Amino acid sequence: MDIRCARCHRTASYDPSVWRCPCGGPWEPIRPLLFDHRAIQPHRPGIWRYADLWPSALRPISLGEGWTPLIPLHRADPRLWAKLDYLMPTGSYKDRGTAAGLSALLAQGVDEVMDDSSGNAGASLAAYAARAGIRATLFVPAHAAPAKKAQMQRMGARLVEVPGPRAQATAALMETLKEGGIYASHVYNPFILMGLATAAWEIWEQLGRGPDAVIAPLGHGMLFLGLFLGFEALQAAGYIERLPRLYGVQAEACAPLARAFAAGAEDPVPVVEGETIAEGVRIASPPRGREILQAARITGGNIFTVAEEEIRAAQTALAHQGLFVEPTGALAMAAWPRAVQDTDRVVVLMLTGSGLKTPVR
Ligand SMILES: [Zn+2]
Repeated sequence: MDIRCARCHRTASYDPSVWRCPCGGPWEPIRPLLFDHRAIQPHRPGIWRYADLWPSALRPISLGEGWTPLIPLHRADPRLWAKLDYLMPTGSYKDRGTAAGLSALLAQGVDEVMDDSSGNAGASLAAYAARAGIRATLFVPAHAAPAKKAQMQRMGARLVEVPGPRAQATAALMETLKEGGIYASHVYNPFILMGLATAAWEIWEQLGRGPDAVIAPLGHGMLFLGLFLGFEALQAAGYIERLPRLYGVQAEACAPLARAFAAGAEDPVPVVEGETIAEGVRIASPPRGREILQAARITGGNIFTVAEEEIRAAQTALAHQGLFVEPTGALAMAAWPRAVQDTDRVVVLMLTGSGLKTPVR
């Protein structure tokens, strides 16, 4: 299974013990991803309808993730569609990526993994590791939502709670990694991006066309990059003429990518992470920041910030449509008025995490 470095573009054979390129860059799948509608197998569950487009060496681990509903958001504006990616086995979009990422690790014979997470990625990894019979140790910030921590523990993962900012959980994992082990990072594993690209392919299939724009929460930016790779594949194969504008949304309290985008910078601007109810995007230093900024610029998109009260209002507005998401899952809703252009016919909002995961505030 070949991969390449997103920075120096060296190709390599996938080896889970080499979690990033020797140059320090993150691995990504070989691009553009292969897409051919004739390879779709509609009878296979969820993301596995696209399995014939993927390396045959994968050992599929599935809990039925993917093929989530795409529904009109509300009657007031027929251009707006909501992709309900919170309707997943563990209640977040992460399952698309985890299923593919863990299937790649299993193909390499891995039976024990570590990861660092603020909650949803850890819960997702715990579930798929349980399914695969892989032991998982998760480093989580002590401030993570209790429901998410309980979710991981109930599925058999070993939890290491780390006080302080989110970055401290990563630092603690790095210390442990010096003594050995496999870092099944939900940020560095390139096959996770391959799994997340299916969100773009589903949107294209469900609409019968490409959207004009897609709006997604932006923390580590894995969904954002997965969408980019998915639409890039559709364009390369001639299914869409141009890429949809991709909009990322960050919380004002922690917005290294929005600041860099506005400043025209190549890399994220370092920030001190503040408190936000959108805990899933509380990422001060996203390792794939450069690629996220490139993707936003290539597509003609943008990166917005929203205030805490805007996030709360968006979460409530969605709930009043019967869509119960966590605060992070409401970020696209909070930003859509700034993203939609007069000529747009279809704009998709990514709703990413279930409201059942966090206390109602
Ligand atoms: Zn490299």
